[in-house]
Amino acid sequence: MAQQDYDVVVIGAGPAGYVAAIRCAQLGLKTACIDRWRDDAGKERLGGTCLNVGCIPSKALLESSELYEHTRKHLNTHGVHVGDVELDLAGMMARKDRLIGNLTQGIQGLFKANKVTWLKGQGQLQGERKVCFSSHDGKEEILEPEHIILAPGSHSVELKCAPYDGKYIVDSTGALAFDEVPKRLGVIGGGVIGLELGSVWRRLGSEVVVLEAQDRFLSFCDDQVSQEALKIFGKQGLDIRLSARVTDTQVDEDKGTVTVMYEDEQGRHEERFDRLVVCVGRRPSTDGLVSGPVELLIDERGAIHVDDHCKTTLPNVYAVGDAVRGPMLAHKGSEEGVMVAERIAGMGTTLNYETIPSVIYTLPEIAWVGKTEQELKNKGIPYSVGVFPFAASGRARAMEDTTGFVKLLAHADTDRLLGAHVISSRASELIAECVIALEFGASSEDLGRTVFAHPTLSEAVHEAALATLGHPLHIP
Ligand code: FAD
Repeated sequence: MAQQDYDVVVIGAGPAGYVAAIRCAQLGLKTACIDRWRDDAGKERLGGTCLNVGCIPSKALLESSELYEHTRKHLNTHGVHVGDVELDLAGMMARKDRLIGNLTQGIQGLFKANKVTWLKGQGQLQGERKVCFSSHDGKEEILEPEHIILAPGSHSVELKCAPYDGKYIVDSTGALAFDEVPKRLGVIGGGVIGLELGSVWRRLGSEVVVLEAQDRFLSFCDDQVSQEALKIFGKQGLDIRLSARVTDTQVDEDKGTVTVMYEDEQGRHEERFDRLVVCVGRRPSTDGLVSGPVELLIDERGAIHVDDHCKTTLPNVYAVGDAVRGPMLAHKGSEEGVMVAERIAGMGTTLNYETIPSVIYTLPEIAWVGKTEQELKNKGIPYSVGVFPFAASGRARAMEDTTGFVKLLAHADTDRLLGAHVISSRASELIAECVIALEFGASSEDLGRTVFAHPTLSEAVHEAALATLGHPLHIP
């Protein structure tokens, strides 16, 4: 039976899709959002990867594990002595699960308040204005909305030489739910997710070895930041091995271990672990998304081809989030969702891809926006640079938290800010003011002449701006 009454049908209720759906509904468009997500108990959930097995659960465990380590190792410095500190892993996991439950229900509430129809099941694009919806309870329905937004997200890439078995070799989802702390944990992939998960389990007591195939650590970050981070993570006990290419793995059920074979410049090596997490990237979840002779261009990586406004090669069909080009980040997907909804409603909204911030939530955190120093060098753009270390910040000293620095890059001729890089326990928050500055086209002088509250970590941004201008006040 054909049903035509939706203005917009969104496929996928992750941060890209659910935000698109809410914004469409706010703009008066009759909107349905299809999602197939079910948790281990079979319960349907909104929020996609981000809320269920991504941003939120990982940050919950990062926070809990940081508190555990901080209480055990660092409170003494403040003259606070505690007795034995015990880990209740089940309690920690239960808090994480409660949090996910509350937040996903929150989206359900938002759908209700905005009158977005939640369709629980599979969506498939069958034409310019045709979506087949197969509900979890076995019913099929053809929807013919005016506009379609595809937001199917992504999933972990699997390595042929380290296939997931759900117990010894797992992806990031498995590593968010171990029921005991692995004595030795191997992590394949020293990127954002590998470092975050490696940090969680190291803090909780695992001996963690990170095997990274590239010869440069965090090659997408500013060099000065990645070198500093490598030093700090090494001191914390994360054993990061670069140029390490994994060639094979072998699970030994009897011993309860997994052996990893890898090669580097020194030759071949073997390491035995209790658990192995594979974090080597994510791939758009576009398999089976389209059926029939639909001319939707999807590249060899599985990404849906879109223009700057997230329009696909089909009229009235848009795609957003991890399933399209650009960084796989929740906030990037959400802003694309807003842009598409507003464009459908006739507005001229655009998105500035140059000022999307990135964060690695390790300790210290690493956050950046705009260009790195090496990018500016490679492009031959003249620049000035200003660095302010937190060791020179009164607030950081009061917090006993002096690791890291703020680094700003500005155009040498115009002084316009081109990039900001922060390594600090609070980098994820500090980067926001730099994002605003870049978005508003500020110069380092603008930041240098702005009054910052004292004593705050933000003063480091102010001082880095002064350093860019050549006259910092609090470094010699
Ligand atoms: P998703 O969140 O993947 O949602 C897609 C939804 O579409 C899913 O619910 C899926 O069930 C549904 N779906 C797919 N196909 C169909 C179909 N055919 N029919 C019906 N439903 C369908 N990003 C950050 O910005 N910050 C972080 O701190 C961060 N941490 C992360 C930590 C981990 C461990 C992981 C794995 C990811 C993390 N990310 C983080 C990335 C972030 O989760 C993704 O960028 C974000 O979830 C992408 O949003 P999305 O809406 O495009 O897709």
